[in-house]
Parts: sequence; C-alpha cells; structure tokens
Amino acid sequence: MKTVTVVGASLAGLYAARELRAQGYDGRLVIIGAEPHFPYDRPPLSKDFLANKDFLANKDFLANTDLAADSDFSANKDLAANADEAAAAPLGGAAPGGANAGGAAPGGATRGGAIPGGPTPGGVTRGRPLPGQAPLDETTPDEAPLALTDPDEIAELAADWLLGVHATALDPRGRAVHLDDGRTVVTDGVVVATGASARRLPGPRLAGVHTLRTLDDARALRAELTRGPRGVVVIGGGFIGAETASTCAALGHDVTVVEAAPLPLIPQLGPEMAAFCADLHRHGGVRLLTGTGVAGLRHAAVGGTTGPERVTAVELTDGRLLPADVVVVGIGATPNSGWLTDGALADRDGVRCDGGCVTSLPQVVAVGDVARVGGVRAEHWTSATEQPRVAVRNLLAAHTVETFSALPYFWSDQYGSRIQFAGHRPADATVRIAEGSPDSGSFLALYEQAGQVRAALAVNRPRPFMKVRRRLRAQRSAEPDGTRSARAAP
Ligand SMILES: Cc1cc2nc3c(=O)[nH]c(=O)nc-3n(C[C@H](O)[C@H](O)[C@H](O)COP(=O)(O)OP(=O)(O)OC[C@H]3O[C@@H](n4cnc5c(N)ncnc54)[C@H](O)[C@@H]3O)c2cc1C
Repeated sequence: MKTVTVVGASLAGLYAARELRAQGYDGRLVIIGAEPHFPYDRPPLSKDFLANKDFLANKDFLANTDLAADSDFSANKDLAANADEAAAAPLGGAAPGGANAGGAAPGGATRGGAIPGGPTPGGVTRGRPLPGQAPLDETTPDEAPLALTDPDEIAELAADWLLGVHATALDPRGRAVHLDDGRTVVTDGVVVATGASARRLPGPRLAGVHTLRTLDDARALRAELTRGPRGVVVIGGGFIGAETASTCAALGHDVTVVEAAPLPLIPQLGPEMAAFCADLHRHGGVRLLTGTGVAGLRHAAVGGTTGPERVTAVELTDGRLLPADVVVVGIGATPNSGWLTDGALADRDGVRCDGGCVTSLPQVVAVGDVARVGGVRAEHWTSATEQPRVAVRNLLAAHTVETFSALPYFWSDQYGSRIQFAGHRPADATVRIAEGSPDSGSFLALYEQAGQVRAALAVNRPRPFMKVRRRLRAQRSAEPDGTRSARAAP
C-alpha cells in the first residue's frame, strides 16, 4: 500500500496511526479530523477537566483507563503492581517503526504534553506543527494533560494531518475519500475511526443547553459553570450524565438528573447495581427523578425580546417543571457513520465489520466507537485503543488474519467512587457481592450464570477487580471464536 488514510483524528485514529507505523507500514499516512485539535482524551472532559481541577499533577484519569492493569500492556511489572494505586506515572508511547522499548505495547500509552494546536482548518500539517500553530497549553495549561500525543510523536508518525475538515464520502471501491472542502484523498487503504456524536434534543439551539462530547463542548459548559451557583438539570442518567451531575454537584451547583427508565444504567449494570448508582446520586446531594421523560424546554429571550433565546426550565412528561439555568443533555451518542452510508458499509448503528474490524471491502477497516465489530459496537475507551492493533494487522494482510477478542472493560468516576466493569453481563445473571459491601461504598460484585463468573463490577476495589478481570480474560481466550461476539456488549 502506498497511501493509508485514517479518518477520525482522535483516540482510535491515533492508535491506528501508531499501529500502522509500529507494524512496519512506511508509506504515506493521511489523518483526517473534523475537529481542529490534534488528538485529545475525552474521559477527563466530564471529570477533572470540567471541575477545573489542576490535574496536571494528578493524572488519575490515566490510571482510570486501567492501561496498567492490562497484562497485555504491562510488560512493566512494577507498573502493573502499582496500577490500583491509581497513580501510575504517564508512560511514553511506542515509537513508530516498531520501537517498543520499555515494555510499552504497540500503540503505546497516553502521552502527556500539549495538545498541539491544529492547523488552519483545511490545512495540512506534516510532521511537527507548523509555525503559528501554538500548543494550546501556552494559553490554557489545564488542557495540556488532555493531549494524547506530542510534537515529537507527531513528527515520528510522519503523517499528513488534515484537521478541521470532514470526510463526506468514500468512493464505492474504497479508493478515494472526499472532503467537505472539495478535496479528494486517493488512497489504497482506509481506517474509519470517526467515533460518535452526542445526541441532541429536537428543537432550536438554546443558550444554556449543552452536550458533552468534545473539548469545545467541555470548554463551553465549564465556562457556564464558573458563573456562580446555578440550577443544573442533567437529562439522562447514563455514564456521561452521571459524571457530569457528580462534577456539577462537587462545584456547588444545585443539580437534578432526569432519567426516563426506572433506574439509571440498568442496560449496562443490571437492576441491582443500577440501584447502587442511583443511591450515589442521592448521597451526592443530587435529585434523581426517574421514570419520567422530557416534554420540552422552556426558554426566554435574554435581555428582553431581541436577545438570544436561553433555556429557563425543563418540562417533564409528567407535568413537572424544573427551573434551569443550565441543561446538560446526556442522552447517548450516535455513531458518525453517515458519511459512509452511500457505500453500504455502514448504517445508523455504525460501520459493519467482521470480527477482525474489516468491512466488506478488505482495504477498509473500522475501529473505536463507530465500529460494529462482529455485530457489537462498544463505546469504551479501552476498545478504541485495543481494536486498532487487530484492524491494522488485517488491513496490511489484505484479509482477516486475526479477530478481536478483548474482554469489554470500562470505568466511570462518580461522587468520589471509581466504578470498574469487565466482561459480558448475561440478562439472567445473578449478582453476588464477593467482597466488601455496597453500604460501605467499596465492594466487588460478580455476575454469575450457571455457577460461572461472566462479568465483574467493582466500586473502589481495584485490586481484586484486576484479578477477576484477568481471570475473565483468560476464560474468554479459551472460548471458541464463535461463542464470543454473539453475546450483547454491556
Ligand atoms: C465526556 C466523555 C467521558 C468519557 N468517559 C469515559 C470513561 O470514563 N471510561 C470509558 O471507558 N470511556 C469513556 N468515554 C468514551 C471514550 O472516550 C470513547 O470510547 C473514545 O473517545 C472513542 O474514541 P474514538 O476515536 O473511537 O471516537 P471519538 O473519540 O469520538 O473520535 C472520533 C473523531 O472523529 C472525528 N470525525 C467524526 N466524523 C468525521 C468525519 N466525517 N471526517 C473526519 N473526522 C470525523 C470526530 O470529530 C472525532 O474527533 C468518555 C467519552 C466522553 C465523551
């Protein structure tokens, strides 16, 4: 292959680019990103970044990713042993071209440093950022820890970065990517890593109403939250909604979460553990209203009849009216696969791939939140970092030589509690508390089916969780291929 194009310049896209170089690809590498920023990490956006905490010194979120707990990752034994101390030092990423010294796995780990400022929208950056592309941390040092890469790695990757431009179509043979600025990138291989976008409520855009998916979203919400105590209504009690509510409460705002289901997080955690998470809201001083939807948003013109319309209240389907200065809409995400639907590679639930991340065109693979791998689409940080190794291997081999079989894993930080989940939760699983107790706020719960542990959830219990996760992973590796992807993702 002479040219490989990665569409989506975020977590999965960056890991794919690293993998391409690590697996020996030395041709032209083009990375297209709709956002103007070089890759940055999203999990802190609803946590420390939103709280405006100085997390330069406290890279807790890095430990959250459980990279260090990942035995595939941690040839570095000390790091693995210390992972549950939640204070793993930032790790150097693997150099392209296969350099993998120091125990870092291909793909490497999160690298600290500045988020290099993107080029002028539509421009091309090759190697180091161009003069005038100031790293963001020069003006906003608190954003530096979000950076997933740094100027040295950008130079090493030797890619053409086209930032601030959208891919609008892929030609039916998968040999050309069309861009919204009129340009076309002719290519031999494509990695689709376009992730997902926050779902919005229907109706006009209103001041005071936010989603939380991008750095720009987080900047805007954070700016609102710094304007003194506010009434915040969070619509949706999923992970993003819960984390945002928790952060807003910690900042001293008056917070209400509205969740249409009887409990938040039932699909992910099952009813018992969902009930525990509902209690976290209550103990955190947040009102949780469940079993009711949102009928609409009330709004008024700011400063009289001519100003912009700003939200004033959330109207619930049960008739209640919740006054609101700020509304955060956390009702899930939609995969960014619309630009591919003409090519029949994708539908509204993402890019269809076989178990090896390969689409119906062998030279087109997909990774991360947008990819439905073997019928399953996961919106987890860890999947976005693990799939690229397999996808790139299959892309370079021109057919599927390996399937993706990693155990699903995610974490969430809410109200000072770290929640970690691994495995597949069968709908009929029974939950057994194996250590600690929900009342104490620290426990390990095992989801069992026919006497076998299928999944585990830990709250503030990282060390035993890691052990179970390792066991589940070993169990999964021993399973025949066909039994893996058939089960629903958590
Ligand atoms: C606020 C927040 C908190 C989170 N917290 C956690 C957590 O605690 N634990 C956890 O496991 N996971 C968490 N996640 C999920 C995790 O961040 C995602 O799984 C991960 O970002 C997925 O990476 P990705 O590269 O596949 O997609 P994305 O990160 O969505 O990146 C896709 C990129 O592609 C770009 N793009 C889209 N369309 C186009 C196009 N047509 N052309 C060019 N570029 C395009 C987008 O602009 C974006 O930059 C969180 C996510 C968010 C938003």
